[in-house]
Amino acid sequence: MIELKDISKSYRSGSVSVEAIRNINLTVNKGEIFGIIGHSGAGKSTLLRCVNLLERPSTGSVKVGGEELTTLSSSQLQMQRRRIGMIFQHFNLLSLATVRSNIAFPLRLAKMGMKEIDRRVNELLKLVGLVDHADKYPSQLSGGQKQRVGIARALANNPDVLLCDEATSALDPQTTNSILALLVDINQKLGITILLITHEMHVIRSICDRVAVIDKGEVVESGEVLKVFLKP
Ligand code: ADP
Ligand code: ADP
Repeated sequence: MIELKDISKSYRSGSVSVEAIRNINLTVNKGEIFGIIGHSGAGKSTLLRCVNLLERPSTGSVKVGGEELTTLSSSQLQMQRRRIGMIFQHFNLLSLATVRSNIAFPLRLAKMGMKEIDRRVNELLKLVGLVDHADKYPSQLSGGQKQRVGIARALANNPDVLLCDEATSALDPQTTNSILALLVDINQKLGITILLITHEMHVIRSICDRVAVIDKGEVVESGEVLKVFLKP
């Protein structure tokens, strides 16, 4: 479902060039929950942003659902991005919009009709357990509830893939577990492939099928979670 071939990304900072990730090769299978773990600065965010081309890799190929993304025009990319949902550590909600409008936002962008938007938003509110909070503003919600809004918004256009950028790092352990359970539920019920980045081993151990360990911009280890982390 996601195929990264020889991805590298350099940032220029004044006269020096910093290689944030180097020669990354990764395949995430359809229906899998795949985790990328590494310390701060290892290159996790850069890698994730290369998957939906929020960042263009300096070299390499990015395929999602068989489609090569690096050569698409920006309007073609806009269409392809609807197949990729993303959630964030700090939720990135529109603070002046209600829960309902936050979730409806990507549907409006996709020019869905009003009635259809209402129907879809109600379905998503049910899925993430926020039916009773639909008319609240983000400031009136707990962290876990905000992330549920983020998840509903990310799933609005029925993506094949959900990318999670440190999605539980701002949450307490109990809330983290409830969000992880929701991600597993979404993966199993809807068949959505999940690629997540985290610095927390607990997240990898509790929900991922396979993992890649990234250090100084390179994959240093990858495979099934139990094999990678139970080695002598
Ligand atoms: P992580 O998500 O694992 O913390 P990042 O991908 O954010 O790692 O960063 C990897 C490296 O690339 C770090 O050295 C970081 O400082 C650098 N970096 C990330 N984004 C930029 C940028 N926009 N400009 C310059 N350097 C960057
Ligand atoms: P994260 O919480 O994902 O690790 P960071 O704090 O590393 O985020 O980065 C936040 C933003 O700053 C990102 O958009 C990243 O691209 C940018 N950034 C990170 N490191 C640098 C850097 N050395 N120079 C310029 N921008 C950077």
